[in-house]
Amino acid sequence: MELLTILNHCHRHRGFVYQHARFGPDQKSIEVHVRPREGSAAVCSGCHQPAPGYDHLPERCFEFIPLWGFRVFLLYRMRRVDCRNCGVVVEEVPWGDGKHRLTRAYMLFLARWARKLSWKETAEAFHTSWDQVCDAVEYVVGWGLEHRTLESIRAIGVDEIQYAKGHKYLTLVYQIEQQCTRLLWIGRERTVESFDRFFDLIGEALAGQIEFVCSDMWQPYLKVIRQRCSQAIHILDRFHIVAKMNAALDQVRAAEAHRLARDGYEPVLKKTRWCVLKRKTNLTGHQRFRLRDLLRYNLRTVRAYLLKEDFQQLWDYEAPSWAGKFLDAWCCQVMRSRIEPMKKIARTLRSHRALILNYFRARKQFSSGVVEGLNNKAKLTMRKSYGFRTFHVTEIALYHALGKLPEPDVAHRFF
Ligand SMILES: [Zn+2]
Repeated sequence: MELLTILNHCHRHRGFVYQHARFGPDQKSIEVHVRPREGSAAVCSGCHQPAPGYDHLPERCFEFIPLWGFRVFLLYRMRRVDCRNCGVVVEEVPWGDGKHRLTRAYMLFLARWARKLSWKETAEAFHTSWDQVCDAVEYVVGWGLEHRTLESIRAIGVDEIQYAKGHKYLTLVYQIEQQCTRLLWIGRERTVESFDRFFDLIGEALAGQIEFVCSDMWQPYLKVIRQRCSQAIHILDRFHIVAKMNAALDQVRAAEAHRLARDGYEPVLKKTRWCVLKRKTNLTGHQRFRLRDLLRYNLRTVRAYLLKEDFQQLWDYEAPSWAGKFLDAWCCQVMRSRIEPMKKIARTLRSHRALILNYFRARKQFSSGVVEGLNNKAKLTMRKSYGFRTFHVTEIALYHALGKLPEPDVAHRFF
């Protein structure tokens, strides 16, 4: 069997023929010459219509999927056409794109691997460069964004994620329906202006169909949701509330540990951080023992811990009205506690009462925690790839990993 037979089998293009294949000058690559089929007209890259030929450009090489340790190149002299509509322009070729050095098939191949491996590992595995992998992913993501459908979005979640060094944030918007969970959009910053741009993208008609929005308590998000998506039930994400409460508890504990040490008391709070922050069921045997020991002391940390544990019951309610009664009672109790960080939490919860209770109005419609899960995946994607220093590269990496974007169709699947 000849190489050209295999190529014709898996990568055939109407209007073109594989002429011959030979080793490159270094003996480490294979060069396949391609020429137009007799009598077939070139296609204009501007309007995609056949057009009369004008002249030829110098030979160009397009890299194809490597074979048995050899890099493979398709060599072709692009024609220019004299198009009635577009003037003299370069022709369109089905295996490649004007801007890219790699063939579409190879870009798709690399991009698929780049979802399983890190970009660096992908580049190493196929003896190419990180930039080429990036280029491949960029092409596939670009194609996917152009061809995805954004009709009927029922539930979205918005969250922020830290990126690069320092306090830079991205705004991520997810679709969070059971049938379809995917990353819809990425915005620079976490401002009103950046989140507004998502609603500009989907337009009013689509925004009007959204039934549920899930977010944290970040003011700019709350504001945009109020303005652009007012018909939706707005739910405050449970995980963010719990995280805020844990932060308050940690603040109480740290301050108290400091005070005890300063006043020369026994350091009972030493190494208790995770005992009080973790859920009881997740504690190790030793931590459980430490916690039991700790609870004997009359400490602010202990009181704050008990308040936090008590609060967890909220999520077990079914009816919004009973959940509301519980929430009010809990807040009252906390306001009498004289533990300032906890009181601050209670005040925040009170001011977002309606949004918190929306959780109970909507809980049966879709599963909570989806946003959290997606955001963890996003963080993993960013961690896996140390090369994502710019916004643009971070953006395409996240779309690639979480966007569930459609891919260009290929007749043959190169696995
Ligand atoms: Zn044209």
